[in-house]
Amino acid sequence: MFARFGLFANVLAKPAGIQILPFGGAMTSKGEYLLDIFRQTGALLEGHFQLTSGLHSSRYLQCALVLQFPQQAERVGQALAAHFKDEEIDLVVAPAVGGIIVAHETARALGVRALFTEREAGVMTLRRGFSLKPGERVLVVEDVVTTGGSTRETIEVVKNAGGLVAGAGSMVDRSGGAIDLGVRRHSILVLDVPVYDPSVCPLCKQGTTAVKPGSRELKA
Ligand SMILES: [Zn+2]
Repeated sequence: MFARFGLFANVLAKPAGIQILPFGGAMTSKGEYLLDIFRQTGALLEGHFQLTSGLHSSRYLQCALVLQFPQQAERVGQALAAHFKDEEIDLVVAPAVGGIIVAHETARALGVRALFTEREAGVMTLRRGFSLKPGERVLVVEDVVTTGGSTRETIEVVKNAGGLVAGAGSMVDRSGGAIDLGVRRHSILVLDVPVYDPSVCPLCKQGTTAVKPGSRELKA
């Protein structure tokens, strides 16, 4: 029902839903480097998935499998930090859980602090005594952006707390760069991966059931 991308050459050579978009300059090699790490860690999954956004897809990028290696997480943070280094960032904020390590490593590279938001009764909020001063410049980061929903919610939390959102970064943008968050945005790796509303999902029509990545079935 699903298979890991053991032979990643297939993905690089094959359209099969995944396409590497041009980056330009040095970012190309960084993006390709990250894609290679996804391959090496078995973090590119193929099957029938229900994403956090509720949309379905035949592809899933399990960033945690990359971030389990601190050296790789550090490199992700350094790449995002380098892109926003001129923005005078005061702190980095990410939605839990997927964004926490990304925020931590980006903040480390920038020499600033890292906060995370989490849901309380379904509403994204700052907990655990986290706060920010009015006017502080914030970089919001994520692991993967598909619809931008979590990042958008986090941006709102920051704004409501008086912060200025100077940019938004992610390891992966799987919207092909289509998402507009209203702020300067950068993703290390930009992929164009089709997603479907469940009502029109071709995989559902084939009779299979979408699984939430990380679920027991997926790990089995
Ligand atoms: Zn489906």
